[in-house]
This record gives sequence, structure tokens and C-alpha cells, in this order.
Amino acid sequence: MIRQVLDHGKDQEGSRCVQRVVCPGSFDPVTNGHLDIISRAAGLYDEVIVAVLINVTKHSLFTVDERVEMLGQVTSRYGNVRIERFHGLLVDFCAANGITAVIKGLRAVSDFEYEMQMAQMNYRMAKVETLFMTTNPLYSFLSSSLVKEIARYGGDVSGLVPDIVLSRLRERLAEE
Ligand code: ADP
Repeated sequence: MIRQVLDHGKDQEGSRCVQRVVCPGSFDPVTNGHLDIISRAAGLYDEVIVAVLINVTKHSLFTVDERVEMLGQVTSRYGNVRIERFHGLLVDFCAANGITAVIKGLRAVSDFEYEMQMAQMNYRMAKVETLFMTTNPLYSFLSSSLVKEIARYGGDVSGLVPDIVLSRLRERLAEE
């Protein structure tokens, strides 16, 4: 059960709540854009849970286990980041894990419309707040799907994904 945060992270009894936030997504695979948002969130909050969506209908390049493993490796330097997986409603995952807010990266205006709709629905359903972080301009054009597409046609995606992801991408695409 989420404790009601009243003021400056204090609960009704006045003791401090853990400010635990979630960064949800597909992360197929994790990019430097994701990592930028995760690391900045880790600097602001007590605990950051990166929640990998188990999406049964969407075709993905990496399995959920592989995505979780790669995320674990590239975030291992942050002591307050944990990788989890979830399916169903994000608000249910938040309630089950005592999460007070969702952190989303905003790349461009094109992200905004969908994200605002989701944020408002999540607030209406469960009073879960969504906080938007503007993308690092270095990565504003970057998405997992674009990385996969470029890598699939032999383009160079180094500098856009962590090195371990780069080699996993090369391996996986060579198998196709
Ligand atoms: P995608 O497949 O588009 O890369 P995900 O579903 O894995 O996206 O993204 C999870 C979250 O990460 C979303 O909030 C998304 O806006 C954010 N995100 C993805 N790429 C970037 C980026 N380059 N800069 C900032 N935020 C990003």
C-alpha cells in the first residue's frame, strides 16, 4: 500500500517516505537516451525502478530476460537503480511496489501528445503522478526502433547505445 506523501516526502506520521520512481519502457534494447534519463533520475530520487514491459504482442529483437540483463549491466554503477519487469497496468505495478511517480523522457513534441494522455489517465486511475524529463539534446533523435533499423542495414550505431549493447546487437542481427 502506498503511503500518502503529504509534504516534502513526509507521510501522515511525519516520517520520511522513500521517494521511489519508475522508468517504464520496452528497452529493446536500452539506448544512451534511456540511460541518460535513468542516471538523471537516480541523481534525484532515492530509488529508481526500471520496469521492462512484458509485451506479448509486439515483436521484439531481444527477449525480456535479455533486455533485463543488459539494463542490469549498464546501470550497475548506480546503487539505487533496480531492474524489474511488468505486464498489465503500470498503475498496478506502482501500487504493488510503493512507487509514487513515473519518470518519462520527452524527446520531441511528437512524444508529448501520447505521454500527456497516458499521464492523465494514470493520474485519474490511481493518482500516480508522471514527471517529464526533457531529453539530452545529444539523444533527442534516438529511439530503440531507429537503432535497430540502422544496425540492421549495416549502419554505425556506436555512441548511441552502450558498448555491450552494440556487440549484442551485432550478434543478434548476424543471426537473422
Ligand atoms: P523507444 O522504443 O521509443 O526507445 P521505450 O518504450 O523503450 O522507447 O522508452 C521508454 C522511455 O524512455 C519513454 O519514456 C521514452 O520517452 C524514453 N526515451 C526513449 N528514448 C529516449 C531518448 N532518446 N531521450 C529521452 N528519453 C527517451
